Amino acid sequence: MSNSRDHELGMDRPITRRDFLNGIAIGVGTLAAGSMLGGCGTQSSLESFRVPDPAEAYPPAAVGMRGSPAGSFEAAHALRDGTFWQNAGSPERVDDTYDLIVVGAGISGLAAAYFFRKQMGPSARILILDNHDDFGGHAMRKEFQVGKRMLLGYGAQSIESPSRYSATAKGLLVDLGIDTQKFYHYYDQKLYSSMKLGSGVFFDRETFGEDRLVAGFGSIPHKDFFAKAPLSDAARRDLVRIYTSKTDYLAELTPERKRATLDKISYADFLTKIAKCTPEVLPFFQTRSHDLFGVGIEAVSALAVYEAGDDYGYGYPGLDAVLGASGERGAGKTDPYIFHFPDGNASIARLLVRSMIPGAVPGNTMEDVVTAQADYSRLDRDQSPVRIRLSSTAVRVRHAGDANSAREVEVAYLRHGKLYQVRGRCCVLACYNSMIPFLCPELPSSQKEALAYGVKTPLIYTHVATQNWTSFQKLGVFQIAAPGSYHVYAGLDFPVSIGDYKFPSHPEEPMVVFMVRTPCQPGLSEREQHRIGRVELYDVSFETMERKIRDQLARMLGGGGFDPARDIAGITVGRWAHGYAYEYNPLFDPDFAEDQLPHVIGRKTFGRIAIANSDAGAVAYADVAIDQAFRAVQELTQHS
Ligand SMILES: Cc1cc2nc3c(=O)[nH]c(=O)nc-3n(C[C@H](O)[C@H](O)[C@H](O)COP(=O)(O)OP(=O)(O)OC[C@H]3O[C@@H](n4cnc5c(N)ncnc54)[C@H](O)[C@@H]3O)c2cc1C
Repeated sequence: MSNSRDHELGMDRPITRRDFLNGIAIGVGTLAAGSMLGGCGTQSSLESFRVPDPAEAYPPAAVGMRGSPAGSFEAAHALRDGTFWQNAGSPERVDDTYDLIVVGAGISGLAAAYFFRKQMGPSARILILDNHDDFGGHAMRKEFQVGKRMLLGYGAQSIESPSRYSATAKGLLVDLGIDTQKFYHYYDQKLYSSMKLGSGVFFDRETFGEDRLVAGFGSIPHKDFFAKAPLSDAARRDLVRIYTSKTDYLAELTPERKRATLDKISYADFLTKIAKCTPEVLPFFQTRSHDLFGVGIEAVSALAVYEAGDDYGYGYPGLDAVLGASGERGAGKTDPYIFHFPDGNASIARLLVRSMIPGAVPGNTMEDVVTAQADYSRLDRDQSPVRIRLSSTAVRVRHAGDANSAREVEVAYLRHGKLYQVRGRCCVLACYNSMIPFLCPELPSSQKEALAYGVKTPLIYTHVATQNWTSFQKLGVFQIAAPGSYHVYAGLDFPVSIGDYKFPSHPEEPMVVFMVRTPCQPGLSEREQHRIGRVELYDVSFETMERKIRDQLARMLGGGGFDPARDIAGITVGRWAHGYAYEYNPLFDPDFAEDQLPHVIGRKTFGRIAIANSDAGAVAYADVAIDQAFRAVQELTQHS
């Protein structure tokens, strides 16, 4: 891209866009080299695996590349590559023996600590390790300061369908003071429609021949909407048909046969082979499934998308007539999509920390947690029975002796380039399943194989702080699906005001724009696509991402007066190379018997080591992370 285009996009503008490498803020352009760090030869080279210390910076306010930033994953990759322990030396023993050590400070790890403490009493000594500079795992908080205004962004987005949570997960929310009914009041479900803002689709020139934003999806008749789209007549005709027709394309089958058929056919094939649409409609739908599944419509089953629906309301037309009306958000979803704290599920993580470490997250209510500033210096103090040690990658977990008779577990971890070892009476691994075989080589090989089966979905949640949102208002949209673009969705933040946090409800106010990208490679199995997508995520520099973000927003919103050089105040890219837990895909995975499912074999408690995390439930939601934490703790406490 030319320098003058870079200038127009504002690549030279002084927004905050630090990237951290070895604990030092570095300029744009050097990250690519930094992200290639790997390998480990000597004790001193452990120094290169350094994550910034939360005491050096307030982590939620860090911008630029977040999620898995440089420095957070290199030690784990060296462990995977078998190079970590070469000349690494012996770890230094620290701290008295803990009652429980938890690896992973995501919702599952924090919930495991919570349940253990509830059962064993408040004096139980618990250490929680996490490789990131912040706690929460995927549920990570992002803060922007635009002028005098603090704006929030998120990692994990919302409490999804809380009425379907288990009694355990519901009970935890209640214990933490979360009353989900209050979101009916806090979430302004009418704001955007009252301003006549609806859904748009951005057709990009690379995919559709020209750049064109068409507003009014779902609010004007489909015939009028598609008439404005740069599509062939055949595609327009079939799109109008599939969105409006009530034809049951599988009328000859019983309900059971319909479900069985749709379970084994992709939505792309449903459109072209069963509903007989021209393949020219496919680019319009191709990336619709990215946000929830991490792959395109050629790799997700029609039944799965019918049940999951589309949180953004663009839908998967044609299926309701076959299977029965599913509602906008799919047959498997019962509640509206409104259970959203402004920092997403980071509020759950922060409430968990508040409940276990007094003073770490000041306040008492689900309202005041939203604006409370966490005191990171309190997380890991001698006098506290529960300690959270950040920027600490666990590199070895083993029994102190034979797994059947050992009384303790040893956990080695790397922190700021130095190896340490702690001992605990038991351990919960609430990290990623795929990490566990390298972390815990003493596990039986069949269990290690099972743990390695699922491949987490790589994805990017980008947040762009803008000076205002007048361009959206002028264009009549609050969200835009962009099926052929780098980010496949961009939308104004959820209109939620809680406590002192007031949503920017006037277009002249600063706003956070949310964007999603899921790197994948159509044509391969889901697991292969995730593996390839992950490589893309690790290889991309923040500079490249920033340029793509600015270019896309300029092209989509330019008609409304958006100027990326003037209007962008900050960018945070939540790069999650190991994102959602793998959920089995009926198009590619065998029909495992219930007790042969890899995650069921993989999560077996081994001696004093139990396994939590949403991977252990093979479902990528907070309630499953909580349920698995509860199970893991029960298994451990029954054992001892
Ligand atoms: C972008 C995104 C959006 C999502 N949105 C939603 C949503 O809206 N609603 C919902 O319910 N769910 C959502 N999810 C799913 C989310 O994964 C779960 O809800 C839940 O937060 C998972 O918690 P967890 O503790 O199981 O895992 P994680 O959040 O992944 O936490 C595991 C932690 O362990 C750390 N770790 C790994 N290895 C080590 C090691 N060796 N040493 C130390 N630490 C280690 C990891 O870095 C991580 O911090 C989303 C996920 C992503 C990625």
